[in-house]
Amino acid sequence: MSSFKTNEWEKTDQTEHNKVEPGVLYLVATPIGNLADITYRAVKVLSEVDFIAAEDTRNTPKLLGRYDIKKPLVSYYEHNKRERGEYIISRLRNGESCALVTDAGTPAISDPGEDLVVLCRQYGVKVVSIPGACAAITALTLSGLSTRHFVFEGFLTTARGQRKERLKELSSETRTLIIYEAPHKLKLTLEDIYEAFGDRRVAFCRELTKINEEARLMTLSEAISYYEQTQPRGEFVLVIEGAPEKRAEETELSIEEHVQKYIDGGMTKMDAIKAAAKDRGLPKSVVYAEINK
Ligand code: SAM
Repeated sequence: MSSFKTNEWEKTDQTEHNKVEPGVLYLVATPIGNLADITYRAVKVLSEVDFIAAEDTRNTPKLLGRYDIKKPLVSYYEHNKRERGEYIISRLRNGESCALVTDAGTPAISDPGEDLVVLCRQYGVKVVSIPGACAAITALTLSGLSTRHFVFEGFLTTARGQRKERLKELSSETRTLIIYEAPHKLKLTLEDIYEAFGDRRVAFCRELTKINEEARLMTLSEAISYYEQTQPRGEFVLVIEGAPEKRAEETELSIEEHVQKYIDGGMTKMDAIKAAAKDRGLPKSVVYAEINK
């Protein structure tokens, strides 16, 4: 019984430890769909800070209303983050406490929260992160793909050339890959991923924690035909199976060297292309095009 009392968890639950401190920025994770997905600590911090910086000042009041929290809001989003960041820092340095909430989920993950934290570090302002919902982790855990090692890529750039280049770099990544995507860009993104990665399994996780939550595990080729028939709706997280382990070793070789290795071993050119494509997890057409450049 006494060991229970001195347990670290018990200590953190004491009122003193949970008191909101002056001059601190609190990164408060908020729900990604289901309003109940918020921690007691998050509600407490939101109720006690001097002001709340919110990415979406139309949405945040709904959450605050649900928990009966009345606090002054300051907007902080992509297009005002520079000037507003300085303003928030000056208030923090004057001893006020602030909670940052972004559109949904954990602040600083693929949203402007990252810049405010950088600014806090520059000015020596203390930052405390109140953990909670994050779309990437929610999707990963239910994907059915390996969770042992994973990489978070966030949003791919919309500049198609750069995006293809980036996907090419990622094509030999053996860890599970997590990507955020908007529904209207999904089809094009899928084509680019398929071209760079070949056929792999992907979990399409959409509307997580909401009424229409869905997580479909499909191969990329299945997904391309599925989304030709079905209009993508809602917010998506793509959890993509990593490249086969063998591929990482083989990428030491150029595609040409890789094919040549099989030809030297006695294969016909077409079989060598097939084998190299399989090793690299690439479509045959990509390998064929590369060696016939
Ligand atoms: N900071 C957030 C987090 O912790 O996940 C992410 C913010 S980012 C601007 C928004 C993206 O997260 C969406 O485009 C979508 O890819 C993903 N996302 C957010 N909520 C989601 C949900 N309920 N279901 C699926 N994806 C979601």
